[in-house]
Amino acid sequence: MSQKIRSAEGVLRTTPPPGQSVELPKEGETNVLITSALPYCNNVPHLGNIIGSTLSADVYSRHRRRRHLNALDTGTRNRRTLYVCGTDEYGTATETQALKEGITPRELCDKYYVLHKQTYQWFDIGFDFFGRTSTPHHTEISQEIFLNLGHHGFLERQEKEQTYCESCSKFLADRYVEGICPHCKFEDARGDQCDGCSRTLDAIELIQPRCLVNKTHKVTTRISTHMYLKLDKIQPRTEEWIKQSWKAGKWSPNAVINHDGELVDSRLKSGLLPTPLTRDLSWGVPVPIEGEDVHGMRGKVLYVWFDAPIGYPSITANLTPEWKQWWFNPKDVKLYQFMGKDNVYFHTVYFPSVQIGDGRNWTKLHHLSTTEYLNYEGGKFSKSKNRGVFGPAAKETGIPSSVWRYYLLSTRPETADAMFSWADCVAANNNVLLNNFGNFVNRALKFVSSQYGGVIPDGGDTPGPYSPNDSLDSEFITAVNSLLKDYIDAMESVKLRLGLQTVMLISMRGNNYLQSSGLNKQLMTENPTRCAQVISRAINLIYALSALIYPFMPATSESILTQLNAPARAVPEVLSNDILAGHQIGAPEHLFKKIEEKMIDMWRAKFGGVEVQQEAPADAQAKGGPGSKKIKKGAAKNAVVAHDGPKSPEAVELEAKITEQGNLVRTLKAQTPKTPELEGKIKVAVDVLKKLKTELEAEIQKA
Ligand SMILES: [Zn+2]
Ligand SMILES: [Zn+2]
Repeated sequence: MSQKIRSAEGVLRTTPPPGQSVELPKEGETNVLITSALPYCNNVPHLGNIIGSTLSADVYSRHRRRRHLNALDTGTRNRRTLYVCGTDEYGTATETQALKEGITPRELCDKYYVLHKQTYQWFDIGFDFFGRTSTPHHTEISQEIFLNLGHHGFLERQEKEQTYCESCSKFLADRYVEGICPHCKFEDARGDQCDGCSRTLDAIELIQPRCLVNKTHKVTTRISTHMYLKLDKIQPRTEEWIKQSWKAGKWSPNAVINHDGELVDSRLKSGLLPTPLTRDLSWGVPVPIEGEDVHGMRGKVLYVWFDAPIGYPSITANLTPEWKQWWFNPKDVKLYQFMGKDNVYFHTVYFPSVQIGDGRNWTKLHHLSTTEYLNYEGGKFSKSKNRGVFGPAAKETGIPSSVWRYYLLSTRPETADAMFSWADCVAANNNVLLNNFGNFVNRALKFVSSQYGGVIPDGGDTPGPYSPNDSLDSEFITAVNSLLKDYIDAMESVKLRLGLQTVMLISMRGNNYLQSSGLNKQLMTENPTRCAQVISRAINLIYALSALIYPFMPATSESILTQLNAPARAVPEVLSNDILAGHQIGAPEHLFKKIEEKMIDMWRAKFGGVEVQQEAPADAQAKGGPGSKKIKKGAAKNAVVAHDGPKSPEAVELEAKITEQGNLVRTLKAQTPKTPELEGKIKVAVDVLKKLKTELEAEIQKA
């Protein structure tokens, strides 16, 4: 089939799709390094995880690769782009889950790594590399950073009373211990939190503590030593860095810094405290020991909160030996990080502090893109209740991954929590994709195929941009050009939902154009030149749409290109005549299929889960603050409080705050020595926590 396509200005030179070649940054240029929060490796991802980080990062990564294609001759070139992610594998949550499933932590991670990878593949998420943290490179890089922190005087030893199992001869991390809650007497309270009253606990507070390995084991307490990172000592430099970076990287207001550039994180405001970097566990990066083991660190591992963010560089190291070109290159590399809101502290305060303390010239966060939570049909996603759609199940619905991507991105929770709803999902497919976008593409292509034998007719336009002063179509051309500008602005500033809305506005404009021009057989007979002109302009708008939709729905973009019989193209800045008269198109096909309304109730029932258990806060969220790494009890049968049913967005928000505040209280309580100043801080933090809980109760009563 003959192609007649304008190839001037390098319109047609493509960048390899993600994952097909490893780009290295080039000096003197802007190079873009993209990460999405590392999913934790003890379960399957749900849709909230996917929209919160991996899918959003994928859209931006694809945009960077397709914005210009590689138009070297005009000096506009795609930015060299690298997108890495992987599973976060170490820590107690993995060890205890492995214990439950009767396999080793390594086997557990192997199993879930594959499930994560397959799920993202199905959603067409184009990582350059999807790695994992349980690798020799990861160990090496984490240990090196730990040692550097020590050499620079940022580590200190602290002693802490911890639960110890005499039978296992080891310290029991929070989740290895269960017992009676000292507050509400709930019998199955975990070492870190009570499911009965939702209070955060320290394992040593439990009454009649039990070892999770075996209930008959004798559990006592002993003093354990740990190395702490003196975040307090680094804080002035961290704050200085945040104040510079939020402006340069145009951060959206978040939990750490507001839109006036004021630091709002409670931990920063009350003063950062030394934070533990080591744990008494076996599944993790061994604490490196130089010379004599003076601090008694042998047999301990690095805390997962310390090593998880190091996964970004270590996963890059597993991809290429040249990883340092990306990670020690703040001059030429811009780091874009995508995450759910519960991860903000770790990416803006914690990890940058580690990088500052390490002392090397690290590439640090440039732009951070955070999402609020995606809830499910008036409630929350819950793995334990089997409520909501979890990774592999999305495929079983028969809804194509392109449509899933569209729906999730069109409801991306950018400024407030969003709600997944089957009715909205079906409406998005039937009303927007099928009736608007798909209808426009299909109507124009079918007309070319049936009326012109698949060959673009000559409407008299010269190749290149259409004149906005065109006598018949000036309004249409001007409107499209203005929308193209909106699209580029939105995408460059990572406003992805707005970018997608703009694509749909453009296709709507296309539909109106065909309508108002009266495209039909009669026009073709009575005014063949005008008919040819309308067709050629519509086809070129479709060609533009193939590039605009690519970051969001790569498979749909591919299908449009096949039907147009045209190669991938860059995002045009103005509508132009690129597919020329005489070009032969491919066979038209429908891009989308109607989804029957009756499926809504079926899916609601299928994914509605079982409404019998109480849910712990933050269960539904992407791996985030320590609170979100909860292991779910199979059945919290003695649960005293049962706040089942739909929760208002305010309640969900409050729960997230309570989890965060609870963690702050725990961190404070774990500190020694107990100075009057510290006692004061604890009191303030506890008061805030109580206040939040009162607010939540009121919110639930209201609902
Ligand atoms: Zn034991
Ligand atoms: Zn309790």
